[in-house]
Amino acid sequence: MRLNYTLTPRTRVSAGRRGIVQNTRPVYDVIPGTVVRGALGTAWWSSPTHAYTGPDPRAAFERLFVGGMCVWAAVPTLGQHTAELRGLSWTTCKYPGDSCSRHWHDTAVDVLGRLTPQDRRCPACDGPMRQGRGWALPDLEDGRQWMASVTRTMLEGGEAKDENLFTRQSLVKEVTLHGSISLTDNVPDSAVDWLTTDKDVSLGGQRSTLGRCRWQSEVATDSAPPETNEVVLRLRSPAILLDGYGAPTLDLKGAIERRTGQVRPPTVARVWTRPVVVSGWHGVAGLPKPEEWALDAGSTAAIRDLTSSGIHALMSGLGIRRNEGYGEVDVLTAEQAAAVTGESNSRGEQEPRNYDDPPTSREVLDDNMAKFIRSLLPERRIPVLRGLLTLTRSVQVRAEGGASRSEIESIVTDHWTYSWARDLSGAQRDNVIVMMAAPPAVLSELITKLTRVTGGA
Ligand SMILES: [Zn+2]
Repeated sequence: MRLNYTLTPRTRVSAGRRGIVQNTRPVYDVIPGTVVRGALGTAWWSSPTHAYTGPDPRAAFERLFVGGMCVWAAVPTLGQHTAELRGLSWTTCKYPGDSCSRHWHDTAVDVLGRLTPQDRRCPACDGPMRQGRGWALPDLEDGRQWMASVTRTMLEGGEAKDENLFTRQSLVKEVTLHGSISLTDNVPDSAVDWLTTDKDVSLGGQRSTLGRCRWQSEVATDSAPPETNEVVLRLRSPAILLDGYGAPTLDLKGAIERRTGQVRPPTVARVWTRPVVVSGWHGVAGLPKPEEWALDAGSTAAIRDLTSSGIHALMSGLGIRRNEGYGEVDVLTAEQAAAVTGESNSRGEQEPRNYDDPPTSREVLDDNMAKFIRSLLPERRIPVLRGLLTLTRSVQVRAEGGASRSEIESIVTDHWTYSWARDLSGAQRDNVIVMMAAPPAVLSELITKLTRVTGGA
C-alpha cells in the first residue's frame, strides 16, 4: 500500500539542523525521510492530541515503524514550483549561445539507445557542458525565495550568550512538502488509520521551535511497473549499499544486479554516481547514528535486459535503512526519462565553479575567503580553516607540479568527506572550489595567511 502525505509548515522548517541530521548535501531543501519518520514516531507516543490510541500500541508501533513502513523524502513545493531532481546523467550547455539547447538532456537515454552520449562538449557550440547535481530548487518569479535566514541566539541558562548569534537557512513558511510512504500488507488497520488522520507533527522532534507542521495523508494507487525491459534508474534519496558479503560498497551496478534477483542478471550499461556521507539522529536514544557511505540522490543507472519481476524489485528501492527513506528510486522508461528534463537556463541560478573557467585571481580568492570566513560559525572557524589549510597545501603542491584541473577537482572532492568539510553548505563549498582554482603562487599566499590565522597547525 502507498500513502501520499503533505506537510504544511506552521513555523519555518530547517532540516539541516546540527545534531538532528547531519545533512551533508549542499542544500537543505529536501527533508530526508528519516526526519519525517522521526516526527511520526514522536507523535505516535507523545502527541498531546493525536497519540496512537488503538490496540496494543507497542506491538503496532513495531509492526509499523520497524518493518512495515518506508518513509520517503519530503519534497518542497512553492506555488507552481517543485524542487527538481536533476540526474547526474543530465547535461546542458554551460554558456548557451543562440544555437544551443536550453534544456537539460538525459544522456542515460542515449546509453539505452546505444548512442554515444554528448556529455563533454556542447554539440552546438563545442563549449563546456554542466551536469545535473541531484536536487535543485528552481528560480521563483518576482525575486521570491525558497529559503530565508533565521538568526538565533544561543541561550545559556535562559540568557543570550554574546557572540553566539548564528544564522540558519530555513524553508520559507509558504512552502508545502510532499512525499509518500510504502506500507507492507501486515501493517494493522489501526496504524493505517492513525497515519491517515490529520495531526500536528514536529520535524526534528520537540527540541526545536522550528519545524511544526500539519500532517495529512491519504491512500494512493501504487504506480504500475513500466512495461519494458530497459529503464533509467535514478536515486531520489541517498542509498546505503552492501555487497554480497554484507560489507559497505558504492558499487551501484552490483547492487542493482543483486536486487533484481534475476537468474541472468540485467545489463547495467552505465552508472553515474557520487558518494556522500550520511548519518542520522536516534531520537529514542538521543544519540547520533553512525555515519555511513552512500550514493547521493541523482545517481543514475541505464539498465537493459530486465524482467518484469526484476523491475518490480527495483521499484521498492535499493540498499539498507529503506524504512528511514534511504535508497528511494525512480524507475523510468526511456520516454519518461527523456520527458522529465526541464529548462536549464533559469535566471540567476547559482552554478558551481567549473574547472573549465579561467584561474582564480588574487582578488577573487580574497573575496571568496572573506565570504567563507564570515559564513562559518565562530566555534567552527579554526577547525574548518585548519582543514582548508591542509587542502590548500595538497592542491598547491599538485598545481605546481602541473596537475590538470580534473586532478585538482578530485583532490577537492575527496575532502568533502573529511570532518572539517562535511557540514559545509553548497555556497561554502563553492567558495572553496573557487579558491582552489587559483594559480600556485596565489595558493602559496593563501597558505601563509591560513597558517597565521590558525596558529600554524
Ligand atoms: Zn552550447
